[in-house]
Amino acid sequence: MTEEKAVPIARAIRLNGILDLYHQVHGGNRFPVNVEQLILDVPETFQTGEPIVVQGNKLDPEFEGALFNLNAGEASPPSWAVVYNTSITSPGRIRFTLAHELGHYLCHRKFQDQFNCNEADTLEWDTPERQMENEANHFASYLLMPRKDFETQVGSNEFDLDVLGSCADRYGVSLTAAVRKCLEFTRHRAVLVMSYQGVVQYACGSATGKWCAIALNKRLPNGTKRSLPANCATMTSSATNVDRLGAKMSARVWFPQEPAEMPLREMRIVSDQYRQTMTLLVLPPELKPWERNKKEADDV
Ligand SMILES: [Zn+2]
Repeated sequence: MTEEKAVPIARAIRLNGILDLYHQVHGGNRFPVNVEQLILDVPETFQTGEPIVVQGNKLDPEFEGALFNLNAGEASPPSWAVVYNTSITSPGRIRFTLAHELGHYLCHRKFQDQFNCNEADTLEWDTPERQMENEANHFASYLLMPRKDFETQVGSNEFDLDVLGSCADRYGVSLTAAVRKCLEFTRHRAVLVMSYQGVVQYACGSATGKWCAIALNKRLPNGTKRSLPANCATMTSSATNVDRLGAKMSARVWFPQEPAEMPLREMRIVSDQYRQTMTLLVLPPELKPWERNKKEADDV
């Protein structure tokens, strides 16, 4: 595991241990995590001497949240404020943002006095220069959706959107966040594609779906982002919302380099809580070139 992931995840796991213990003793619902209360408790729990307040403000819709030191530039010890955007109506998004800001407090407050986090920060996990944003997102993901519990919920039904929808409800997060969590550990070859008006904004894959995601993220020779394939289900379906079971098609609709017989399952959610369309692609395991040759020979 990279350093980028190791430190924030270790801190989230520590907090989860405290929450597990608290609920074993006092009862109450372990999930979803009451992040706002947790933020208020953390300075005392970790004896940081740096209190935090949480405040909701009506702000520009692209602005997710912020953490800043109210005493910046002063001799007095730091005192922090987490701000979240009340223009955002999704409780899942607000919960993830609050957890993200708590991640900044626990991992980064020694380095900066102010963190302004927007929608793009929450979405683009894979951009190298966004290391602190990535760390805060990893922290939030592990705090809200502990991996062991998530794996127990998913069982062997990994890419069933009904199951992932139940996980999103259990943890109080968006479906996008639950799908991304599943991509972290699934053995399936799966890719999440976020698009806006038919253009890929970004794709991220499971360990075995990484190359498919790279192909979709690669810009065209003229520097523009790729359009979705014209004949994919996301573009051709007239349904207004969810296709939870997915449409079956040839993998070549999305990935021309795949063997002709390779199938693909495409699931789409229009306007998840972000202003983008989410498409989930699931493929059988990759066929290596020598395996393709063997299959063709077997087929003769
Ligand atoms: Zn941030």
